[in-house]
Amino acid sequence: MTHEPGQTLYIDGQWRPAESGRVFPVTDPATGDVIGQAADGDATDTRAAIAAADRALPAWSGATAYERAAVLAKADALMRERRKDLAALMTREQGKPLKASMNEVAYAADFLAWFAEEAKRIGGVTIPSARADQRFVTMRQPVGVVAAITPWNYPISMLTRKLAPAIAAGCTSVLKPADQTPLCAVQLLADAGVPAGVVNLVTTTRPGEVGDALLESPVVRKLTFTGSTAVGKMLAAKAGATLKRVSVELGGHAPFIVFPDADPVRAAKGAALVKFLNTGQACISPNRIYVHRSVYDTFVATLEQRIAALRVGRGDHDGVSIGPLIDERAVAKMEAQVLDARTRGARVVAGGERLQVDGLDGTTFFAPTLLADVTPDMLISREETFGPIAAVTPFDDEDEVVARANDTEYGLAAYVYTNDLSRAIRVTEKLRFGMVGVNDINPTSAAAPFGGIKASGLGREGGYEGIDEYLDTKLVGISV
Ligand code: NAP
Repeated sequence: MTHEPGQTLYIDGQWRPAESGRVFPVTDPATGDVIGQAADGDATDTRAAIAAADRALPAWSGATAYERAAVLAKADALMRERRKDLAALMTREQGKPLKASMNEVAYAADFLAWFAEEAKRIGGVTIPSARADQRFVTMRQPVGVVAAITPWNYPISMLTRKLAPAIAAGCTSVLKPADQTPLCAVQLLADAGVPAGVVNLVTTTRPGEVGDALLESPVVRKLTFTGSTAVGKMLAAKAGATLKRVSVELGGHAPFIVFPDADPVRAAKGAALVKFLNTGQACISPNRIYVHRSVYDTFVATLEQRIAALRVGRGDHDGVSIGPLIDERAVAKMEAQVLDARTRGARVVAGGERLQVDGLDGTTFFAPTLLADVTPDMLISREETFGPIAAVTPFDDEDEVVARANDTEYGLAAYVYTNDLSRAIRVTEKLRFGMVGVNDINPTSAAAPFGGIKASGLGREGGYEGIDEYLDTKLVGISV
């Protein structure tokens, strides 16, 4: 890393302290240890970052697509080369098991690789005119300075999913990462080697102040945000005042439906893998598991066995598959959802409580939990959990389960297990979600469009669509 401790603002290619001199500690959620200091940037620092991005814009948007692609390709190679170090830092800062961190770094690098190629495919079209003496062509041009605000749960891949298409399109950016995971962002920028001003970083514990400075600036032409629905809606509304382009990736409440013709054992294995990924702190995590009554007992018993095999602990210890939750607030939410479900008649088949892991001072470990006989009136059926609780509900009828799955303000991911092709297509068409996994627990890739509908967001990240969010179309009419 090229910066001194506490000098984690990256503005105009320079590492700097906050103008105020303030810093904040960054902790390891597994041990409670302080692992670093970050600069606590404010509105003044943010305005400096915006000015740097604005100054860099003419040269960067004027660079050829091949030059922009080369920067991304180099960043991709460096990220893969330094994968282990980046993963180790992520595990310390965020808590996820080392293997999951390694996977995330690879996924993050995939966005650099994908958009390095997409940079070369930004083209326009020619359009026939009704006038014989006229020609139409379109140009696709960068939207300008981008504000990127990211969450802590995927502290590297959520950044490259935004910065890579911005860089490819010829935009310049100001990034504000989550205050729990600023060091991953710092390391990412230290390694990436982008030209001065193209990406600027403001670490902070003052999200409102920094967010307002970004959103009030007329220079910033786009907001890209990943985080909670409440904050996303508020930021999108503020961005409306200066009519910025907006893409927001927000919360989810994924249904996971197991039909009677599916193999309940395979479905339960899949549910265990995707539910407890990242300690359940994933926007595409199944929150409502609906299982047909005829296979319900087999499914619950298999899921219980899989949960019994999960080891909770510090992410850098061998064999650990579940790390800590990010903070106390997250543990309190787990406890409230379990208490509510228990009071309303759910069975706690496994877990259900906070854990103390031997030898660790971290207090945010929660036992992987299985709740059976969950009903629609329970909190967990309505509210995103964002933690390691699998909530299972029996159902009898296809129409009934589709209606229940759609009965939510969210619309990010959904999962369907069935061996009946007609049913798979029929149900997929009816599910009001942006992504559907059919007998598949990972419908994501840098090459595929990620995103939700309704309260889960606007716009798509990755895939062919991902770069469109960073481009404006200019129409040129030519009289000949
Ligand atoms: P969050 O509280 O909304 O925070 C997300 C980011 O917004 C953080 O950088 C946060 O800063 C910042 N922020 C908070 N208040 C702000 C304000 N007033 N102005 C400007 N920025 C502000 O969400 P989170 O708890 O970190 O993340 C979990 C949520 O993200 C879940 O709902 C999850 O489903 C969603 N998520 C969605 C996707 C997707 O692709 N759809 C992917 C991952 C996560 P601080 O950290 O400093 O507060």
